[in-house]
Amino acid sequence: MKKNIILMGPPGAGKGTLAKKLVAKYGFAHISTGDMFREAMKEGTELGLLAKSYIDHGDLVPDEVTIGIVRERLSKNDLDKGFLLDGFPRTIPQAEALEIIAKEVSRPIDSVINLDCDEKELIRRISGRRVCKSCGAPYHVDTMRPKVEGVCDVCGGPLMQRADDNEEALKVRLDHYVKSTKPLLDFYRDRKLLSSFNSLVDSNVLLDEISKFLEK
Ligand code: AMP
Repeated sequence: MKKNIILMGPPGAGKGTLAKKLVAKYGFAHISTGDMFREAMKEGTELGLLAKSYIDHGDLVPDEVTIGIVRERLSKNDLDKGFLLDGFPRTIPQAEALEIIAKEVSRPIDSVINLDCDEKELIRRISGRRVCKSCGAPYHVDTMRPKVEGVCDVCGGPLMQRADDNEEALKVRLDHYVKSTKPLLDFYRDRKLLSSFNSLVDSNVLLDEISKFLEK
């Protein structure tokens, strides 16, 4: 069973939705740098204020800050069932730092899962995306509607649109993806860790395909 996993893909490819399903199924620790930043923003910490100045414009938070929070998270002792890195690494320096950290904590990366998705579909997914303000559960106005309009099925919290899910910030995020994150595919292909999956299929079908792969 592969258990220390990196989940990659452009914004809107379905990383968050898939991550939640994999975490529920296998008990991996879910390490989402985006969620960690949003949590810090909600709490109004120094990290949150700093992150907000980048995130709201669709820009990447500087490497040293992002690497620092991942280093701290990977030093915790709740990782024996494995971990799922979601949204990290996003740059080559982050991937290089992760290699060092993974060695330090003796938890080598077993697999990098890349979600493929075409750009038109990404824009459709992101512009209709809604998330629960309280628990972060993902929804979509057409394809993943809550039972009651505007209310989270999981916790009853209010649904909202992320501040960075607007067209302008999305363009910047896609640009960063192409320039900074896409080169990581070659980085991990060279290390024979990369496997790509088409994320246009139904999310449960995708979960099945990836589960089979992880359990191989
Ligand atoms: P996400 O929820 O993964 O889409 O992340 C939301 C935002 O948080 C991104 O658009 C970035 O501004 C920031 N962020 C998340 N992860 C990283 C990372 N690994 N490096 C830099 N910025 C990040």
